[in-house]
Formats: sequence, C-alpha cells, structure tokens
Amino acid sequence: MPIPRDDVVAWIKAVAEMISENSSYLTQLDSDIGDADHGANMDRGFKAVIKKLPEVEDKDIGTIFKSVGMTLISTVGGAGGPLYGTWFLQAGMKTAGKMELTPADWSEALEAALNGIVMRGKAEPGDKTMVDALTPAVAALKQAVQANQPLNTALELSAEAAKKGMEATIPLVARKGRASYLGERSAGHQDPGATSSYLMLRVAADTWK
Ligand code: ADP
Ligand code: MG
Repeated sequence: MPIPRDDVVAWIKAVAEMISENSSYLTQLDSDIGDADHGANMDRGFKAVIKKLPEVEDKDIGTIFKSVGMTLISTVGGAGGPLYGTWFLQAGMKTAGKMELTPADWSEALEAALNGIVMRGKAEPGDKTMVDALTPAVAALKQAVQANQPLNTALELSAEAAKKGMEATIPLVARKGRASYLGERSAGHQDPGATSSYLMLRVAADTWK
C-alpha cells in the first residue's frame, strides 16, 4: 500500500506536534553535551513549516518536502537546522512529482536524506550524531522493503533500528558537532539529534500504520 500525499502532510504535522511536545526533553539532552537549544531550534523550525504548509500541501510530495527543507534552513540556526533542511531537500528531490510513495520510494527518499546529511556534515556512524540513528534505520527499512515486508512492518523495523542507534550513542565520545568540544566528557549522554531523528521515524510508523 502506497502512502498518499495527504498522509505525508499528516506526518509533517504530527512531527511538528511531537517536536513541540518534546522540545524541553530535546533541549535538556542538548544542555548535557551542547548548548541547550536543540528542542527550541527544532520547534521554531517546525512551527515555521506548519505556517508555510498551506501554500504547498496541495502540491506533489517533492514540492512539499523541498518547502519544508528550505523553511528549516532559513529558520533554524546551528548544525541541526541545515542538516534537517538537507534531509528534506534530498528527500524532496527523490520524490519530485510524486502524489504517493510506495515503500520503495520512502526507503529511497530516506536513504537520499541520510546521504545528504553525511555529505554535508561529514559524520560517520559512531561519531555520536543523528547519523547513528538514521544509518541503521535506513538499512532496516531497505532490507524490509526488499524482502517485500508490509509497509507497517518496514516502518516499525526502521523506527526500532533508529531507537537502538539512538540508545547506542549514550556511551560514545562525540567526534562531530558541539558535543565533540567536550571530548571524553560527552560519553554517558544520549545525542539530541539522534533522538529527534528517532522520534521523526517513530511518528512515521505511528502515522502511516
Ligand atoms: P547546534 O549543535 O549547532 O547547537 P543543534 O543543537 O540544533 O545544533 O543540533 C545538535 C545535533 O546536531 C547533535 O546532537 C547531532 O546529532 C547533530 N550534529 C551536529 N553536527 C553534526 C554533523 N557534522 N553531522 C551530523 N549531525 C550533526
Ligand atoms: Mg545545540
């Protein structure tokens, strides 16, 4: 079963709500190893996305994703905004002209998003960033889609893989972003960006089931 455009819009709205609800949690995580702004950054960005959505929500999925990406880049400072902006711009290129997403489309879009983030931020798995949640999520999604698993199952597997990846950032020493300034002291804390990435995929599984 493909994901219709309106369900993609519903996911973006649900992400904005989830970010707003988890804003203090994400900022708390960022206060441990960063500058205590990740929740506020993401909330500002997604509030702007929601404001802009009526202008594009009747367009194709690629146009919608590109608009989200551009809004995030222009409203969110720091590392997180441009990286999440890249996420949506790349997903938007993969889904240009599409009015619905097959599981394979979503898998390719998410893979392109991750590749864009890696190109831009140069983080590798194990550097304690959002890449640690997204890499296993993309792998799990791709594998499930190739094995013709139902969409439900594929989304659950990718969200669960992201969760494990997020949890696995706790013992890591950060090698990218602000947390890397702390060196060894960054160990013992969960990465905020890996957490927001997991939450976005959790919301996808919940919205599209
Ligand atoms: P800033 O660090 O500029 O304050 P945020 O607090 O919004 O920006 O986002 C921090 C998150 O960004 C980190 O938790 C990490 O997951 C992610 N991040 C930082 N640098 C990179 C990078 N080079 N590649 C991928 N993700 C990164
Ligand atoms: Mg920060």
